[in-house]
This record gives sequence, C-alpha cells and structure tokens, in this order.
Amino acid sequence: MKLAETVTFGGSGLDRSALMRADEAGLAAALEDGRGSVLPIWRGKPLMEEHDGGMRLVWVHGNHPMLADAPAERLFLGDDDGALRFAADISRWQPDDLDADQLNSFADQSLQAHPTASDGQLFRELRLAMTLLTARDAELAATAKAMLSWHRSHRFCARCGTESRMTQAGWQRTCPDCGAHHFPRTDPVVIMLITHGNDLLLGRSPGWPEGMYSLLAGFIEPGETMEAAVRREVAEETAVRVGHVDYLASQPWPYPSSLMFGCRGEALSREITIDPAELEDALWISREELAEALSGRHATLLPARKGAIAQFLMENWLADRLD
Ligand SMILES: [Zn+2]
Repeated sequence: MKLAETVTFGGSGLDRSALMRADEAGLAAALEDGRGSVLPIWRGKPLMEEHDGGMRLVWVHGNHPMLADAPAERLFLGDDDGALRFAADISRWQPDDLDADQLNSFADQSLQAHPTASDGQLFRELRLAMTLLTARDAELAATAKAMLSWHRSHRFCARCGTESRMTQAGWQRTCPDCGAHHFPRTDPVVIMLITHGNDLLLGRSPGWPEGMYSLLAGFIEPGETMEAAVRREVAEETAVRVGHVDYLASQPWPYPSSLMFGCRGEALSREITIDPAELEDALWISREELAEALSGRHATLLPARKGAIAQFLMENWLADRLD
C-alpha cells in the first residue's frame, strides 16, 4: 500500500540512535548541558501545549522541578534532528482536583496542570490530540507512552521475581539476581477491512459510544500467521467466512503496547451470527453509507475516530487507494 506510512504514529523516521543507549555517562551529560530534553508523561498523558493551530509536545530541561516526581532513570527516545529526546514518568504526582471518573472514561477530556508547568502546558489524552501533532511528535509520544507503561507493569523479573532495573537507557530491564534481560513488549493485533462486493463488515463492542462502529480486530495468537488470525477472528466474532487476505499498513497503537496490522479480506459468506461476549452488533454497510458516516451525515452511524488505522483504511477503501 503506497500510502501506508502516512497513518498516524507511523513514518516520521525518528533516528532512535540505538548505539547511544549503552553510553550512560554521555546521555547524562546531554541532560545536564541542555542538548537533551525530557517529555514528562503523567499516567499515560504527555505534556502538550497549543502551537500554530495544532498541538506540540513540551520538552523540559533535565533539571526541571517537575521531574522530582519521576524515578531517577530517563528513557532515551532518540535524536530528533539534533535534539536528544528523553521521557520520564511522573505518575507519582497527585493533582489536587483529580476527576477519577473522567480519567477512566472512553475519551478522557480532562486536562491536568502541574504547578511547575508554564501557562497552557497541560497533560492531555493522546487519543484526542494525536491528529493535531506533527508526525514526529506523534511517533515520540507513542514510543514514550508505550515504553513507560511497559516499565510500570514489568517491574519484576519474569524468571525469578526479583525487582529488575532499567538498563540500556530504558530499552531493557535487567535482573540483578539471575541476570535475565527483559525486552519491551509489542503485541501484534490484526484489524481487518472485510468486504463482500460493495459492502464492508463493521462491528461494535459493548461500552462504545452509541452509534460507533469500526473494523473488527483481534490479537494474533502464538503460532499463527496474520492471515490466519484475520480468518479466525472474523469467524469467531461474526461467523462470516473469509478467503483471500492481504496486508495493507501498520500502526503502532500505544494502548498500551499494540502494533496494528491493517489487512484486507474477501468474505466468502454474508450471514452474521455475533459472539455476544466480543461484540454487541455487527452489520454490512455499503460504500455509499460509509461515505455518509465518515462525513458525519449518516442518521445512525457515527464517523470512526480520526487518527485510528480503522478510519485510515476505510477512507482509502472509499477512495480506491488501497494498492
Ligand atoms: Zn531474575
């Protein structure tokens, strides 16, 4: 697919400078002298500010007081056209007026202002801001969010249970007891554009906003190809049989650490029987109805979320640009 790398979170070509990860002293010096700067992330929400009609990440000095709420180690993200970029997890900070219900909602619109941040610098949900960032900022934010979330949930050695240490500037955890090295996870997910002639198969999960439908998706299981996962997931969720499957485009999706493989599959059958444990509803929608839904003019279907690969694939299917 020629447009594959224009998907949100993909294709900014960040230089991750993996060879620098072992140079602890060099990276620490860069943070001291200002060649390096840090993106603070609070409970998965990067610090951002409005800029030029869009949004940008806020990078603070390595000695900024906000970082007092972070562990001592910094995650090194890479060389952003000459600026060395790091991230730090300041989730220990407790805002005074925390709205816990908003934080756990489907689309958390709450904003948090740290007392040491400048005016207009706020922690924001990345899902709501991702299409307002440049491709480079989106890649940096997705990488930092996924990596810091991995460190939070993988503190202990999976082999012996001892608390492990961040090494390689955050790209490994090493066990001080048994010496095991642990590497960050990426979980593969297939998301599929299943068509039958002029129609597209969509489903909705329980708990989604009313009227919202999207492409079917599911985790690839160990020992399975992408193509087999597409056929299995569609059969399990809707009982629709799928024949030929093609890969189209991928998208890193840091909720918390997925890599979405966008695929296209041709349905061999049309009758739908949903699995109520996975889906609340599934339906076939024509190209014409999809065009109405994406432009917000459909009577019952909501447009898919901007920035997600589902919407990217649907728009390109409508425009006949999947090749
Ligand atoms: Zn161990």
